Amino acid sequence: MIMTSSMTFEPVLKRIAREVEQLPGRGRPADYIPVLAARDPRRFGMAVAELDGTVYGVGDWREPFSAQSITKVFTLALDLAREGDALWEHVGREPSGNPFNSLVQLEYENGIPRNPFINAGALVVTDRLHTRTGDAAGELLAFLRAESGNPGLGFDTQVAASENAHGDRNAALAHFMAAYGNIGNPVPELLDQYFRQCSISASCADLALATGFLARHGIRADGGRLLTRSQAKQVNAVMLTCGTYDAAGEFAYRVGLPGKSGVGGGIIAVVPGRCTLCVWSPGLDERGNSVAGVAALDRFTTLTGLSVF
Ligand code: GLU
Repeated sequence: MIMTSSMTFEPVLKRIAREVEQLPGRGRPADYIPVLAARDPRRFGMAVAELDGTVYGVGDWREPFSAQSITKVFTLALDLAREGDALWEHVGREPSGNPFNSLVQLEYENGIPRNPFINAGALVVTDRLHTRTGDAAGELLAFLRAESGNPGLGFDTQVAASENAHGDRNAALAHFMAAYGNIGNPVPELLDQYFRQCSISASCADLALATGFLARHGIRADGGRLLTRSQAKQVNAVMLTCGTYDAAGEFAYRVGLPGKSGVGGGIIAVVPGRCTLCVWSPGLDERGNSVAGVAALDRFTTLTGLSVF
């Protein structure tokens, strides 16, 4: 079934949901944030949003879940839109080859994180956005509400508090980078911003719609421009190479799209010029990516022929 522009996505989504239902193992929900550990790994939802905001879905596609690291894409875009290339002096854009919360590389590389999607890099981006806006998490939430058309999106204070209570590693990363002069705000203030950012609760429909600007080459839902065409390409490229933890090579091989996952079990993906996707299922593999989510995106690109390759 190769997609043409006049086809609806509904049949392909239904077929994927049926196939995913048969998947033998579903992985395990993240347990380092206790509130997330309680989610049922058999939940599954998937949404596809067209460039004009038409959205299709299957399963639990309207059920809110914890967006977690998916939000790193949006803070990156919001900061890049403000400061442009100067950002890249403070964070790199190479895959790390290390777990998302690793400290080791930071010392060798003088407090400059490898990329904006490992925690250290995301902390730098949030710090810079916070300096520019005075409220990075609030800026992010306003953006997600506007792009999804859902004014009900909000922070999950229980998830944020839970992360704060188990946040020693993120605190260590932030303090370490502050020692190198790569963090501008007081660390406790930055961590509060970062944990609230990660705690945002949104559905597949919300996140597929909010990602639309990356398929529209930088253009927001209201027609205004957030990123230049070239910056939208850059964000997509960093998603492709660094967006799925230490498994970005495998994800590119199987799915062939820029994507970003989070430990809540969500994954967003972009078909530039065509559509955006979000899939959610809380069971994670050993690298931290949703088992059913990766399988569903793999099937989507195989069945539709929609990929960047
Ligand atoms: N809030 C999480 C953390 O910093 C984000 C993890 C993720 O989704 O990768 O540990």
